[in-house]
Amino acid sequence: MNVSTPKPTSDRKLEESRPTDLPSLPDNLSDVLQQGPSQHSPLRETLLPKPSLTHVDTWIFDLDNTLYPHDAKLWPQVDLRITLFLAELCGLDGISARALQKYYYHRYGTTLRGLMEEYGIDPEEFLDFAHSIDYSELLPNPPLGEAIAALPGRKLILTNGSRAHAEAVALKLGIREHFEDVFDIVASGFVPKPEPSTYERFLDRHQVDPAGAVMFEDIEKNLVVPHALGMATVLVLPKTIDPFREAAEQAPSVAPHIDFMTDDLADFLVRMRGG
Ligand SMILES: [Mg+2]
Repeated sequence: MNVSTPKPTSDRKLEESRPTDLPSLPDNLSDVLQQGPSQHSPLRETLLPKPSLTHVDTWIFDLDNTLYPHDAKLWPQVDLRITLFLAELCGLDGISARALQKYYYHRYGTTLRGLMEEYGIDPEEFLDFAHSIDYSELLPNPPLGEAIAALPGRKLILTNGSRAHAEAVALKLGIREHFEDVFDIVASGFVPKPEPSTYERFLDRHQVDPAGAVMFEDIEKNLVVPHALGMATVLVLPKTIDPFREAAEQAPSVAPHIDFMTDDLADFLVRMRGG
């Protein structure tokens, strides 16, 4: 995927990212200066202090489309089963159920939240149904496992999905043993990211100091609160566009709450450790 404009923060060497470092000037400084103080200008990216991850002792990972790519074809199955759940619950045809699903997603953050608010459904029943999927196309990822294992400190999963789904995914990927625990949608009281209370519950439950934590996420808005709490943030982008997800959720970001971007999580983690 082409993420060259703006240049992904992850492409920079971490040695250049320490806030105390003197910034280097871009080669095309005269051109840059003529562009003015645009939010998107290379000058802004080059001259602003950049965060470092050398202080991090707690590594927090989203699950879906962060620890595994969309081409494992897990999310389309979950997405379809949510549509089926809605169709059956509300007596709708597929197209109408799909429209209602998207409405709930945008209004409540997750379809589950919308169904709980408006229909009072049993969330456990919904989660069991939605995550009854085929994991066979999800392959082990030894490089990712090695990269996570080499990180110093604690590693946790923070997901809007269920623990059972997260455990199944992590086991298939061969990375489960590296994680201390999973904080799922049940643990969050069925309040999804990006609600602030979800992160507060997570930090409290696992006694995490946000100042020493970094969060990896594929959805940009889910990193707003972590950044505000003092965490470093890494936006994980897809290598190829996922046709089953909204394009706006897959684009590179110049938002100030994004510290790093990468479309190769394992490689990012290795480079960050100086490998
Ligand atoms: Mg995700």
